[in-house]
This record gives sequence, C-alpha cells and structure tokens, in this order.
Amino acid sequence: MKALWLENNQISMREIAQSNKPGEALIKIRKAGICSTDLELVKGYYPYKGILGHEFVGEVVSAPDASWVGQRVVGEINAVCGKCEACLNGRPTHCENRTVLGISNRDGVFAEFTSLPLENLYRVPDSVPDEQAVFVEPLAAALEIQQQMQIHPTDRVLLVGAGRLGQLIAQTLALTGCDLHVVARHAFQREILSARGIRTIAEENIQPQKWDMVVEATGSPDGFNLARRAVRPRGTMVLKSTYKGGMNVNFSSIVVDEINIIGSRCGPFEPALRLLEKREVDPGVLISDQYKLQDSLKAFERAAQAGVLKVLLEN
Ligand SMILES: [Zn+2]
Ligand SMILES: [Zn+2]
Repeated sequence: MKALWLENNQISMREIAQSNKPGEALIKIRKAGICSTDLELVKGYYPYKGILGHEFVGEVVSAPDASWVGQRVVGEINAVCGKCEACLNGRPTHCENRTVLGISNRDGVFAEFTSLPLENLYRVPDSVPDEQAVFVEPLAAALEIQQQMQIHPTDRVLLVGAGRLGQLIAQTLALTGCDLHVVARHAFQREILSARGIRTIAEENIQPQKWDMVVEATGSPDGFNLARRAVRPRGTMVLKSTYKGGMNVNFSSIVVDEINIIGSRCGPFEPALRLLEKREVDPGVLISDQYKLQDSLKAFERAAQAGVLKVLLEN
C-alpha cells in the first residue's frame, strides 16, 4: 500500500506491506488530517520512525468481530495493554506499555490502510460527514479541558492561541457559557471566531492577574508568558501544547500566587462525536486544503505555511 513514511527527519511516499495486525481491525482510510504534532515529528522534536498520522476517519475492512466490517469509524490513538497500574486504575491514556498511532511504536494513518484494536474504535453516525468526523481526535483533545476541571458560567476564561487546536478549544469552551475571550494573532483566525460569536481580545487589552482560567494553546514561550501574566492568584493555567526544549519559568511567583498548572492531552471521543452529530461545533471551518494521499509531500508543505489551519489527505 502507499504510505507517508518518516525516517531521520525526512518524509517520503513509499510502498509498504499492509499492516494487518492479528486481533486488530484493518481500516481503509477515507480522510486524514495533518496536525501540528505531525509537523513537529518531521522536525525531529520526538523520535519516531514509521508511517505518520493519527487523525482519521475510515472504514473497517476486516475485524475479529465481523459486525464491525463496513462500519465508518474514528479511533483513539493510544493502544493500551489493559493490565498495567495506569490501565487498571482508569487512566488508559497513560498506559505504561502504550503504543500511539503515528506517534510512538505504531504505524499511523497517512496510508491506504491502518490497524487498531477494536476497543479503540467508535462508529460515526451517518449524519456526520467525513470532513467533520476527521476532527474527532483533536476535538476530543479540546474537550479534555472540561474533563479535567469544572468551568463555571461566571468564570473569566482567556484562551491564548487560535490555530488548529485553539479554534476547536474556543468552540468547545464557548458551549460552557463562561466569559470567554480569545487571543488570536492573525486576522483570519479572528474572523472565524467572530463568525461563531466568540469574542477576541487584543494582547494589549488583557488585564493582568484577572482571569480565573487561562488556556495556553500556542506551545511558545511568548504564549506561556502571556498566559502567566493574565491568570489571577489561585487561578488555573491549562497547557494544551507541548513546548520545544526547556522553558525558563519563574516558579517562585507560581508558588506565591498559588497557581494551578494543568497539563492536558488526549480526551474523550464519545462527547466529541455527540457534539458533531448535534452540530454544536463546526470544525469544517478550519479546512484550508485537501490533497490526495499520493500528494502528501505537497500537503505537508502547505500545512507548514503560516496562516494555514487544517490540511486533509484523502484516499
Ligand atoms: Zn493531532
Ligand atoms: Zn496499560
């Protein structure tokens, strides 16, 4: 099968033997999305060799349980052991023996087919088109914030960053009814937010130490520092992006101000699918471009350009 292979910071299209793992479902990829993590993997921020990609919607072509065959599905990216301490205590995304689709020890979805355990799969309702379903994984990651902490309608919430993930975080936070403002660097990002009635705020208008909760979705030291200045004493910072290399942070001020810092990663798929089915969110506004799988290299060039949100690959 055709696949986008990453090795030594180089991506290339290759012909690779189909990965039909025993006991797992084989899935034909319909659409896949390029996310910032994929771009970072190519830059070598984390070591990975194999087929890239983890955001997808596909169709099951074979499975240990035949009732899944022909189903349109999305899939959780962490394949877990079910036996370690983390798994047995309800923290499967932290499984000590996990492999992660297109990120760690498991071939990903920028290919004609991929393979995942059945317990990772979720059926996609017929009313949700592929262009929406392909966003379930990052949408679930956005919802993880609400899984980790309660957001009150009276909370003043600042979101720093309105890129690929930031836009989805903004749409999901807006549903809580909190007093949400978003810092968006680019005009087109602000336009997408305004079209949904989500308020933006210019950096210079952010009152320091006034925000109950600040979500940092830029993964940059500047974004972190802005978020740190904005959060009130005993407020909460939620970190949604990874940071390249080490960070220079004044931890004494975090102690004195009693700031909660929460790291936040993968989230729940079922509520993400539900929001799409009820059309309470619309990730489709993020699509900048679509390419055929064989044009993956062009698609990656496009995704890396400034001002580009989601680039999709299709089979
Ligand atoms: Zn991703
Ligand atoms: Zn485990």
